Amino acid sequence: MKTSARVVVIGGGVVGVSTLYHLAKLGWSDVVLLERKELTSGSTWHAAGLLPLFNLSYSVGKLHQYSVDLYPRLEKETGLNVGFSRVSNIRLATTPDRWDEYLYYVGVAETIGVAVDVLSPEEVKAIWPLVETDGIIGAIQHKADGYIQPADLTQALAKGARSHGATIERNTTVTAISQKPNGEWVLLTDRGEITCEHVVCATGNFARATGRMVGLDVPVIPVEHQYIVTDQHPAIMARRAAGLPEMGVLRDSDASWYMREEAGGLLLGPYEVGAPACYLDGPAATSEYELFPDALDRLEPHILSAIARVPAFGEVGVKRVYNGAIAYTPDGSPIVGPAWGLRNMWLNEGHSFGITAAGGAGWQLAQWIVEGEPSIDMMGVDPRRFGQYAGEGYLIEKNEEAYAKVFTVHYPDEEREAARGLRQSPCHDRMAALGAVFGSVVGWERPGWFKPGGAADPMREVWSFRRSNYFAAVGAEVMSVHHGVGLQDMSAFAKALVTGPGAEAWLDALLTNAVPKKDGRVTLSYLLTDDGGVRAEFTVYRLGAGQFYLVSAGALQRHDHDYLRKALPGDGSVMMEDLTTRLGVLVVAGPKSRAALQTLTRTDLANAAFPWLTGRDISLGAAPVTMLRVNFVGELGWEIHHPIEMQNYLFDKIMTAGAAHGIKPFGIKAMSAMALEKSYKLIPRELSIEYSALESGLARFVSMNKPGFKGRDGLLAREAAGRQWQFVTLELHGVTDADARGQEPIFVGDRLVGRATSGGYGWRCGKSLALAMVEPAVAGEGSALAINILGKRHAATVVADSPFDPQNAALRA
Ligand SMILES: Cc1cc2nc3c(=O)[nH]c(=O)nc-3n(C[C@H](O)[C@H](O)[C@H](O)COP(=O)(O)OP(=O)(O)OC[C@H]3O[C@@H](n4cnc5c(N)ncnc54)[C@H](O)[C@@H]3O)c2cc1C
Repeated sequence: MKTSARVVVIGGGVVGVSTLYHLAKLGWSDVVLLERKELTSGSTWHAAGLLPLFNLSYSVGKLHQYSVDLYPRLEKETGLNVGFSRVSNIRLATTPDRWDEYLYYVGVAETIGVAVDVLSPEEVKAIWPLVETDGIIGAIQHKADGYIQPADLTQALAKGARSHGATIERNTTVTAISQKPNGEWVLLTDRGEITCEHVVCATGNFARATGRMVGLDVPVIPVEHQYIVTDQHPAIMARRAAGLPEMGVLRDSDASWYMREEAGGLLLGPYEVGAPACYLDGPAATSEYELFPDALDRLEPHILSAIARVPAFGEVGVKRVYNGAIAYTPDGSPIVGPAWGLRNMWLNEGHSFGITAAGGAGWQLAQWIVEGEPSIDMMGVDPRRFGQYAGEGYLIEKNEEAYAKVFTVHYPDEEREAARGLRQSPCHDRMAALGAVFGSVVGWERPGWFKPGGAADPMREVWSFRRSNYFAAVGAEVMSVHHGVGLQDMSAFAKALVTGPGAEAWLDALLTNAVPKKDGRVTLSYLLTDDGGVRAEFTVYRLGAGQFYLVSAGALQRHDHDYLRKALPGDGSVMMEDLTTRLGVLVVAGPKSRAALQTLTRTDLANAAFPWLTGRDISLGAAPVTMLRVNFVGELGWEIHHPIEMQNYLFDKIMTAGAAHGIKPFGIKAMSAMALEKSYKLIPRELSIEYSALESGLARFVSMNKPGFKGRDGLLAREAAGRQWQFVTLELHGVTDADARGQEPIFVGDRLVGRATSGGYGWRCGKSLALAMVEPAVAGEGSALAINILGKRHAATVVADSPFDPQNAALRA
C-alpha cells in the first residue's frame, strides 16, 4: 500500500469512487481510495438504481442533472457497460396541491435546464397500460431519467479513476485519523499508515463512526428502506416478447411509492411512516453486503395502494424483499463539502439518493478540493447547514421524519413536526400567548406569524403554493409595523465578537466594505469567493478600537463562523468568540418605535443623537443592551442585542412601554414581505457564489478604494469579462392568488432570460413583487418581461429597486 498521497478517499461505495474519479480527471492522479471490504459492499450494491431528476433543491437538482448526463458517457470512456436503462420517469398527481407542486417544479426544472413534460391521464395510460388512471389529475415525465446498475456504475467509475492514475486499496479499514502540526493527515489502517494533504470521508452508513475519529458529530443516521421484487408477470413478459419498450419508472407520489419493471416482474419501493433509524452505533466491523430482515407489515398500506393503481402487482408472487440501510440527514439532502473546524477534511456523506447524486457530488467536491471552490451553489448540501444541536436524538427523530416525508408535498411554507421546541428563546411562551404560530430554523423556534384572535384563535396554518390562509394576517402585521410599532424575536441570529490588535486590518482585508472607522458605526459587508461570488453577509458594528461585533443569518451560523475562523491569522492577533446563544435579539420597528423605547432609557434616541447605521451600548430599563439602528423591514427601528437571560424582562418592559403606541408582535413572514419591498437580498437566493457581488447589486457595499479584500481581483476580472446576470426588482401584473416564491422562470417572449430568486406580496406598495437575476440586456428599468407562476404566465416589469421608500426616509427618520 502507498504510504502517502495527495488525497485519500475513505469508502468504496459509488460516492467515494465518483469522488476519486473526478479528482483524477481534474489531474490529481496521486489519489488513493481505501475500502474496508469490497467496492459497493455498503449500501451501493442493493440500491434499486433509480436516477430521479426531480428535486426542488437547486443544489441537489444540479447534482442529479450532472449525473444523469455523465453516466451514459462512461461506457464509451471506460468500455464498461453501466446498465443505464433510460426508460423515463413518470410522477403521478392525484391532488390539487400535488399538481401545484409539479407546476412549481416545472418552472424550477426550466431554470436548471432539465427537460420535463406534462402528461394527461390518457398519456400516462398509453405509456403505462398496466396503470389504473382513476383519480389521476395528471403527471410529469422526465424522459432522460431511468435506472442504472449501481455496481456496474461504480466499477466503471473505478476503472476511469484508475486509468487517470488513481489507486484503489480494497480490504483496508481506516481505524484512526490524526492531523500533524504541519496540517498533514495521517490515516491508520489495518494495513499500515498513509499520510495525505486532504481526506474525503465517503463512508455511507459509517459516517458518524468516521466523524468521531476526528471529533465531528456528523449529522447522518441511516433509516431502513425496503423494496419488493415480484416474480415475472405474463403481461410484462408479453410486452417484452412483442419488443415493446419498458414502461419506465412510475411514482405515485400521493401514495408514497415507486415502481418499475425488473426482470419481467415489478419492483415496488414504498417510503412508509415508521421506518426506523438503524445502525445507531454504526454497522458492525464485519458488516458487508448487509440486509435486515423483511418488515413487510409496515408496507401493507402501500402494497394495497400499489395493487389498486397497478393490479398486475397483486397478481404475482413476491420473489425477494430487500431491506437495507439508507443514509439520511435531517433535511434529506446529502452533506457535501468541507468539514467545519478542520482544514482539508471533506465530507461526501448522508446520501439517500446516492446513486443519483454520486456523479454530481463527486464532481463538485473534486472541484472544491482541486480548484478551491465548487462551480455551482452548494448551500443546499453544505455540511455546515446544521449545528451542534443536531445530536443523536435529534437525528433519529428528524431523519426518520425526512424519510417518511420523501413523497409528501413540499410546500414552500412547510414546517415539519419532529424535534420541535428544541431551541427556544426565553420569550417563546410570551409570543405563544400572543398567538404566535412558530416556524423552525436550525432548531430555533421563531414566530412565523400571529393569529389575529391571539392564542385562543382556532385558526390553523394551511400550507400552499398559493396565498396561504394567513396571507391577510401577515398583511395586518406589516401595516401595524408600518403605521405604529412592532416587536420581533430575532434571537436566532449568528453573532460573533472579533477582537485583537489585528482585528481591524484583518476584517478590512477580508470583507468587501470599509470597516467602520468610528466607534459606534455599523456597516453591511460581504465575504466573497476568490472570483467575486458572494459567500457570506455580515452586519459589522465597531464597539471600539480592535473590537467588532458581527451579526449574520441564524441558519448560516456554522457556515459563516467556520469561514471566519479558518481565515483567522495564525499569529493570535485576532480572536473570535461565538456569542450566538449568549445574546438574544429583539427588533422594535415602526414610526412609533422611538417614542416607545425613549421611555425606557436616558440615552437620547433622537435622530441627531442616534442616527441610522449606528449603535450604542446603553441601558434599557435596568438591562444593559447593545442597540443597533438597523433592521430588515425598512422602517425606523432598532435591533436590541441583550444578555439572553434578560430577554423576558426586556420583552415586558417594551410591551408595556409600547402599549400606548399600539405595539404588536410581528413574525418572520411579515419581515420577509417588508424586506422584499426594500429589495433586500439574501443568501442563497439573490446572493450566491454563482453570481458576482456586482451582478447581485451590491456595489454600494463593495469598497474598491481600499487596498484589497478577498475576492477583489476576481470580482474585477469577472466585471471586465462582462456580467452574465443582473439583479432586478420586478412588479408582477395580474397576480391574484399565487405570488412568485423564487425559482420561477423569466422570459422575453419564449426566451428564458433568468429566474426569480424571491417573491411575494408587498403590502405597503400594494403590488405583487419578485426579485430576480436576469440577463443584463433585459435588466433596464421599465423592461417588459414575463414570469411563469404555477403554469400561468404573467407580465412583469423591471422597476427601480426598493419599491417602498427608495430614499430610505423611514429608516433615516
Ligand atoms: C433498499 C435501498 C434502495 C435504494 N435505491 C436507490 C435508488 O434507487 N437510487 C438512488 O439514488 N439511491 C438508492 N438508494 C441509496 C443508495 O444505495 C445510497 O445512497 C448509496 O449507495 C450511498 O453510497 P455511498 O458510497 O455513500 O455509501 P456506501 O455504498 O455505503 O459506501 C460506503 C463505503 O465506505 C466503506 N467504509 C466505511 N468506513 C470505512 C473505513 N473506516 N475504512 C474503509 N472503508 C470504509 C464501507 O465499507 C462502504 O463500502 C437505496 C438504498 C437502499 C437501502
